[in-house]
Amino acid sequence: MSDDIPFDKSFDLPPGRIEEVRPGVRRILCNNPGPFTFKGTVSYILGKGRVAIIDPGPLDEAHIAALLDAVRGETVTHILVTHTHRDHSPAAAHVKAATGAPTFGEGPHRAARPLNIGEGPRLESSGDREFRPDNALADGDVVDGDGWAIEAVATPGHCANHMAFALRGTDLLFSGDHVMAWSTPVVAPPDGSMNDYMASLEKLTRRSETTYFPGHGGMVKDAPSFVTHYIRHRRAREQSILHQLAKGEADIPALVRAIYVGLDPRLTKAAGLSVLAHLEDLVARGLVRTEGPPSPDGVYRCFDG
Ligand SMILES: [Zn+2]
Repeated sequence: MSDDIPFDKSFDLPPGRIEEVRPGVRRILCNNPGPFTFKGTVSYILGKGRVAIIDPGPLDEAHIAALLDAVRGETVTHILVTHTHRDHSPAAAHVKAATGAPTFGEGPHRAARPLNIGEGPRLESSGDREFRPDNALADGDVVDGDGWAIEAVATPGHCANHMAFALRGTDLLFSGDHVMAWSTPVVAPPDGSMNDYMASLEKLTRRSETTYFPGHGGMVKDAPSFVTHYIRHRRAREQSILHQLAKGEADIPALVRAIYVGLDPRLTKAAGLSVLAHLEDLVARGLVRTEGPPSPDGVYRCFDG
């Protein structure tokens, strides 16, 4: 994508193996690698004896079995979900059935804005429409466990109901897909919102946590500075879009070709949705115009163009 962010792609955990990354923080990788999931989804186990599971992961039998195996002899007291994409939340129902633990999350899956006429979810396969948390979390809510406490940090943008979880009394934050060391997340309307995403990044720069454990890949070190790079990256992409449109009107495929040079072809659709997310934001801010609501088929021009 872009080399202006100091990405760290080192992450060698084999699927199914438990690794203690901090005292009282274990992680285990699901074997669901892909262009959006990197090596796969990372589930976390918090505490000892009476534990929480963060992001049980997709409906993957081997992963669910490995996760339950990892907590054998312990009591699972909480199941926390960062957001309702199918690589994070569907296994919650199975872990709940096996352990009796209640689930916690911001709410059911939803779009970031009302759908336009004729519009459906564009990445239908990614949304988990089954998940309903037993306990709904709002920004700032604290979940108390045995020897740990988690503060819910609302971080919409990648997904409207995205929550990060700060581990109280430590420098750790579980960042879900909001901030990851290996890549930026997809921000795809209507699930995602660029305006929300940028605000959620700004929010993290005002927090004290310095180490993030994301839903994919290894830890983010020096996190506030890394997040600042993320913000600069998106602002630069926004400038590229405005620069292209200053040359003349364009549709989204033309913008993707001009801006994403050397893009992995598997990511073309996601790149188009990311550009759409920027265009929605730019139209809302009065910098770009188009006929009707911003759409994947629309033609865009600078407001004074
Ligand atoms: Zn994910």
